[in-house]
Amino acid sequence: MSSDDYLIQSGQTGFDRILGFIIPDRHARGRMVRLGPTLETILSAHDYPPAIKHLLAEALVLTAMMGSLLKEDGGQLTLQAQAKGGAIDLLACDYRGGELRGYVSHDREKAAAAGTSPRLENLCGEGYLAITFDLEGSGERYQGIVPLEGSSLSEACERYFAQSEQVPTLLRVAIRSEGTHCVAGGLLVQHFPEGEEGRERLHAKEDHPEWEHVAVMAGSTRHDELVDPYLSLEDLLIRLFHEEREVRVQPLAELSRGCRCSVEHYQSVLASFPEDQLAEMRDPDGTIPVDCAFCSKIIRVSA
Ligand SMILES: [Zn+2]
Repeated sequence: MSSDDYLIQSGQTGFDRILGFIIPDRHARGRMVRLGPTLETILSAHDYPPAIKHLLAEALVLTAMMGSLLKEDGGQLTLQAQAKGGAIDLLACDYRGGELRGYVSHDREKAAAAGTSPRLENLCGEGYLAITFDLEGSGERYQGIVPLEGSSLSEACERYFAQSEQVPTLLRVAIRSEGTHCVAGGLLVQHFPEGEEGRERLHAKEDHPEWEHVAVMAGSTRHDELVDPYLSLEDLLIRLFHEEREVRVQPLAELSRGCRCSVEHYQSVLASFPEDQLAEMRDPDGTIPVDCAFCSKIIRVSA
């Protein structure tokens, strides 16, 4: 494959979408995602060194897959890594109703010295990863925290599912970037948490034959398949699970970049500040500058 083959061409389909699937006989469910223009738009708001670009791309794929596990559109999934001693201080990504955003606060020199794809723990030093599910209907919030250890964010997220949710989960993420072009793909497969309904929980069942089989098949996914724009997500799914009697597929949200940093949003936030504090924040032109880290831009708010 020449490098041009995977560059995003106009008219090419299959990017920025997420597919849900169920393998009923194996009590398994999954997500498959491929990001293109949406990922490029998010990355283009910043001038990241390669290692940080790679890390954020991986985080966005994971955020999309985990966020789409939320049953309600208004729910939000937030992935946040806080670290010290390495190149990263903070990574924040979130997903709501198909909208994705994210940024990484980092030390430029340390990040540049880390090469293109360092191990997670080498990039982060010491830290932890918090994964938060905010449910809209009930207003409930679930949060799990795991250390930023191991080779990748995907590995840390697998540990989150194993430890916090006791759901055996396999995660694979692949990224290809060249210049300003970037394609990322991901696969999430997990064993149904059917044990919640009064049966024994599945955390003791990593060796369950149903799950072992699915995990082996899913684990055979190659990185180049995940980011091949000429291989649809549906075809990849068939390639992986063609031996199964039934695989049910459901296209989920179209993914796009979305931020909530509107003037109206900040006006409503600033409305709760007392006048003397607002006066201190105001610039000579009468507006208050607010920094959106996701968009890397200053928004001027009249308040
Ligand atoms: Zn913003």
